[in-house]
Amino acid sequence: AIFPTGEIPGKLRKDESKLYDLIVFRFFSVFSSPAKIRKKKVECVLKNEKFIFKGSEVIERGWIDFYPYVKFENGALPNVKMGDKLNVIELKAEEKETSPPPRFNPASLVKELEKRNLGTKATRAEIVDTLYRRGYIEGNPIRVTELGFGVIEALKKYVPEIISENLTREFEKKIEEIRAGKKNKIEVIDEAKDQLIDIFTRFKEKEEEIGNVLSEIIERSRTIGTCPSCGGKLKIVKSKKTKKIFVGCSNYPECTTSYPLPQKKGVKISNKKCPICGLPLVSIPMKKGRILRCINPECESKRTSL
Ligand SMILES: [Zn+2]
Ligand SMILES: [Zn+2]
Repeated sequence: AIFPTGEIPGKLRKDESKLYDLIVFRFFSVFSSPAKIRKKKVECVLKNEKFIFKGSEVIERGWIDFYPYVKFENGALPNVKMGDKLNVIELKAEEKETSPPPRFNPASLVKELEKRNLGTKATRAEIVDTLYRRGYIEGNPIRVTELGFGVIEALKKYVPEIISENLTREFEKKIEEIRAGKKNKIEVIDEAKDQLIDIFTRFKEKEEEIGNVLSEIIERSRTIGTCPSCGGKLKIVKSKKTKKIFVGCSNYPECTTSYPLPQKKGVKISNKKCPICGLPLVSIPMKKGRILRCINPECESKRTSL
């Protein structure tokens, strides 16, 4: 709850003052009168093809005056009545392409969960956090990691119920019904127990297969190239002693080929290869964007920029 204190805040940082404004405007707008908007949609037919245009205007501004974050387009209302005949002034054909739906970001993913009735107000943000924390997704906009795809593939194959939206939705619905007093708590818990025990028993039976699929994927995502001296697999390794990450060979200790990596957050091995020596390029985050560098400190490319 928000309690106005009447105290004027001292010096605020830019983001703090934005947040303060948002809260104050929001608070005021709640107490003002409703806004009234008139909308008109015109459908007209030309040679059996339907054309539509719309307009709207704000008649009473009400709370809009207290809440500058929403914009209402005040397109003039088309001045036509039902049954009017309109003249065609010009015909233009335009060619446009549809674009794919944008990738999710954390906020739009939470909205999507809500739309699909998954999770509750209290748990949705936490669900998305968990996906990040476990490395199933990364970045913003969100990308699914190799591991994320792998987990879904493995579960789909062996215990598809675990990733079934319906199962989750069903549970959420029953919880909601308990809250509304329509269902008995004990009954629902018993039902859930039966279902979950069945699922987990099958999971347990397939544990090894699922584990194999996952370790194969992790193995694959860690392998970044071929060792130039022995043909082994190059992998990102973390030194137990120094806790530093570097690139090492899978045939260690027989092969001691290794390359240092910058110890910086966000360093990734790109899927591009060095045009000069063929070793993988490492992608390093800088203030503006990322740069690609060969992992081999002795590579000629170090002397020129890529
Ligand atoms: Zn090697
Ligand atoms: Zn190189």
